[in-house]
Amino acid sequence: MKAAILLDAHSMIIEDVPVPEPGEGEVLLKAHSCGICGTDMEFYENGAYNPHWTLGHECSATVEKLGPGVKGWQPGERVVVNDLFSCGECDFCKRGLESLCANAANLGIHWPGAFAEYTKVPQRALFRLPENVSMRDGALIPTLAVGHHVIKQAHLEPDLKTLIIGAGPVGLSVLAALKIAGVREVVVSDINEKSRRIAKQLGASAVIDPTTEDVPERLEALLGAQPRVVFEAVGKPGTILESMDTVERGGTVVIVGNCFEEITVNPITWILKEIRIHASQGTASDDFTTTIGWMETGRIDATAFITRTISLDELPGVMQELSAQKEDIKVIVNI
Ligand SMILES: [Zn+2]
Ligand SMILES: [Zn+2]
Repeated sequence: MKAAILLDAHSMIIEDVPVPEPGEGEVLLKAHSCGICGTDMEFYENGAYNPHWTLGHECSATVEKLGPGVKGWQPGERVVVNDLFSCGECDFCKRGLESLCANAANLGIHWPGAFAEYTKVPQRALFRLPENVSMRDGALIPTLAVGHHVIKQAHLEPDLKTLIIGAGPVGLSVLAALKIAGVREVVVSDINEKSRRIAKQLGASAVIDPTTEDVPERLEALLGAQPRVVFEAVGKPGTILESMDTVERGGTVVIVGNCFEEITVNPITWILKEIRIHASQGTASDDFTTTIGWMETGRIDATAFITRTISLDELPGVMQELSAQKEDIKVIVNI
């Protein structure tokens, strides 16, 4: 089968590799569409955990072949994959906290990914895709599920004043989730003009360009107060500290962006404001069932998120291009 192989950082080729064989409890999928995620870009730029690796985890597919012991699925069924494979048996999974599973593994990180004609996944990771949701839009569901997972960390009410810092795919999925939850005031701050435009399209009540505007001043003018909940979806020390500074006293900061850098901070500012700090990563089953429902009932403007659709053959070139520019929101690979 044809697969995109990451040989090393910045070195991806298309190669013929053997089709994987599904083991006990596993299902072989024929991949249809797979989104390029920030995580894929991290690995593309720094190298994957394993040499000669296939990335890709935001995938819609059809069931091709069932491994031993798999029941309840038929070849040809249309599916979307929860790329965070939880075990279903550990204490966290039993409490419904699958994103914290003690035995978690990820498609495209620990298991070979879906930038390939076929990929195998545990049966537990599969969710049925409704007939009226296209394969392309289905590949957006893992991103939307992240947004749903994030907003569970905040106590939402319609008159809540909120700020999202960063309008990449995750920030925009938080925006979409907040709008569906009925939150009226969602201000979005991003340095990129295109991201701000898409945020407006997806229902942001206002957008801010932090490179030319005074953010606290603009927030005061727009909201008449500081935001009660700030979602940090950039993952940089500067924007994490900005979230803490910007949030209202007694408010909540939800850190969504993956930050690998150290932060020096004097916590007294947080203490005096009595802020709550939550962090969010990954997804659980209910994030998938809910967002599949959103897609099915036409509550998501998928076209706003998807800035480009490409073929698998184009992927190596596009990955190189994406590592140099940040203009695209979500690129979908048609396998
Ligand atoms: Zn992803
Ligand atoms: Zn578990």
